[in-house]
Amino acid sequence: MATATSEIRALTAAAFQTPAKFTEFCRNGGKPLGGIINGEQVRGSMNVTFETIDPGSQEVLATICEMGEAEVAQAVTAAQRAFDGAGPKSWRNIGVEERIKLVNKLVELCDRDRDVLLACEIRDGGKVSELAEGDFTQIRECAQYFSGVARRIEMGDGPAMKVAEGVKGFTYREPWGVVAGIIPWNYPIVLTSWFMFPALLSGNTILIKPAEDTPLSALYIAKLAQEAGFPPGVINVLTGRGEITGHCIAEHPGVRYIAFTGSPGVGQAILRTCDRHGTRMKRELGGNGSAIVLADADPELVARMVGKYTNQHYGQTCCTIHRVFVDKKIADDFIDAQTEFFKGLKIGYQADAGTQLGAVINPTQRSRILAAQQETIARGAQPLLAGGEATVAGKSGFYIKPSLYRTEPNLNVNPLEVFHTYATICPVSSPEEALKLANSSPYGLGSSVWTKDIDRGITLAKQFRDGTGQVNCHNSIAYGLPYGGQGISGGPGGGVNCEETFLDYTQVKAVYVADYPG
Ligand code: NAD
Repeated sequence: MATATSEIRALTAAAFQTPAKFTEFCRNGGKPLGGIINGEQVRGSMNVTFETIDPGSQEVLATICEMGEAEVAQAVTAAQRAFDGAGPKSWRNIGVEERIKLVNKLVELCDRDRDVLLACEIRDGGKVSELAEGDFTQIRECAQYFSGVARRIEMGDGPAMKVAEGVKGFTYREPWGVVAGIIPWNYPIVLTSWFMFPALLSGNTILIKPAEDTPLSALYIAKLAQEAGFPPGVINVLTGRGEITGHCIAEHPGVRYIAFTGSPGVGQAILRTCDRHGTRMKRELGGNGSAIVLADADPELVARMVGKYTNQHYGQTCCTIHRVFVDKKIADDFIDAQTEFFKGLKIGYQADAGTQLGAVINPTQRSRILAAQQETIARGAQPLLAGGEATVAGKSGFYIKPSLYRTEPNLNVNPLEVFHTYATICPVSSPEEALKLANSSPYGLGSSVWTKDIDRGITLAKQFRDGTGQVNCHNSIAYGLPYGGQGISGGPGGGVNCEETFLDYTQVKAVYVADYPG
C-alpha cells in the first residue's frame, strides 16, 4: 500500500524510564565495572578507569576499568584454552546443536532483560526508543539466521579429489581460534550481534572490544552469556580506549582474526598492525551515501523519505544519505520539502517523548561536526540550514542543529563522512551525471535511486560502486544479503549478514595424501 506523504516522519522517541536493574548493573555494588575475562570481572592491572555518560545529559552512568596489555594477554590465553579445551568439551569440538542451544538461551535472557538492553542503547548510546527497539530485534534475528547457516555449512573434511595416481586431496575447514570484534559506538547491540553470533557459531572463541563511549551492552550481554552457561573464556569483553585496549588486541599475535567496524582511518591503521603479525582482518567502515532522485519522483514524498534516512540516529549511521543528486526539473520543490522536513525535526533529550534529533555521542564528535558544517560553506555550498549548536532546556548534552546545503556539480563540498543530520543537495541534468558524481567518492557503502520506474532504478542502482545499491529505500539490511563496503568503506570478505560472513570466520586448508611409497 502506498504511504501518504504526511505519514513519513523521522524515528521518534517514546518516553523512556530507566529500569532499576540497569542502574544496579551500572552501580556494580559501588565498584567500577571490570572487563570480562574467563568468566570473571577483571579490574585491570593499569588501575585506570573511565566514565561512560549519557550524551544527552552528560550524567555519568558507570565507571569502567580499562584493560591493558596484560589483560589482553590474559583474555587471549583464556579464549585459546576454551577453544582447545579438554577433548569434546572444547568450544571447537562441541557440536553445532550444543552451540545453538547456548546461543538460544542467551537470546532468551536478552529478551527477558530487554528493558536493560534498551537502556544501554537509549541512555549510553543516545538513541531514540523507536530505533533502539528495532536494534534490539537484531539479537534474535541474527542468532536465528546464523544458527541456520551453522547447520548448513560443512566444517571439517570436504569431498576428496584424485590429484594423481595414488594421491588424493581434500579441503579441511575449521574455525580460526581466538577472534576479536572491535565495535564502534553507533550501533552497539546490532554490531556486537553481527560479530558475535557468526564468530561463535562457527566455533571460535571471542574477544569483544566495545567502544569506550558505549561499553555497557557488551558487558551486560557477557553477563547474560555466563548465566546462559557459556563456558568461561568463550566470550571475553575488553573495555577501554581504542589506542590502548584496541591497539593491544591488534598487536597480540595470538588473535588469529579481527573483525573491525569503525572509521576508515582506524581500520587502515589496524590493518597495517595485523599485517605485521599475519593476523587476518576484515573491515566494515564508514560511508558517505548518495541518493539519486529522478525527475519522475514526487519531490515532497521523496524529500521526506530521504530526510528520514539522513536523520536515522541523527545521521550517525554508516550507510546513511549525506549526498543528494536531484533532477533539475524537480530540484526546487525537492529542496523546499527537505528543508521543511529538517526544520521540523524535534531536537530534544533522547529519552523524552517526541524527540527526533538527540545529542551526538561525545564532545569530540560535536566539534568535528561543527567544523565540517563550516567547511562545507567554505568550499562553496549555499547553506539552506546552517546547523550550529543547539540547546535543550535542562540538559547539557552535545546537541547540534541539522544542516542542509545546495551545491553544484563542479564543487567538491562534501568529501568526508560528516556523521550528522547533514546533507548536500546537488541539482543535476541527468541520471548519468548523478551517477558519475555519486561514484566520485572514495567511499562505497550504500546508495539509492528514487523513481517510479523500478526497472530504470535497478539498472542505475547496479552501477553504484557501493556494496549496497537500493531503489526507493535506504539503510537497508536483510539476513542472507551481504552488507559490506567498497573503496575505503571496507573489505575484504563477504561483508556481514550472509553465508560468506560465516565462512570469513573459518579457514580452509588443503590436505594431500599419497599412498605410502614403495
Ligand atoms: P572508530 O574507528 O574511532 O572506533 C571504532 C572502534 O575502534 C572503537 O571500539 C575504538 O575504541 C577502536 N579503536 C580506535 N582506535 C583504535 C586503534 N588504534 N586500535 C584498535 N582499536 C581502535 O569509529 P567510531 O567513531 O567509534 O565509529 C564510527 C565509524 O564507524 C563511522 O565511520 C561509521 O561509518 C563506522 N561504521 C561502519 C559500519 C559498517 O558496517 N560499515 C557500521 C557502523 C559504523
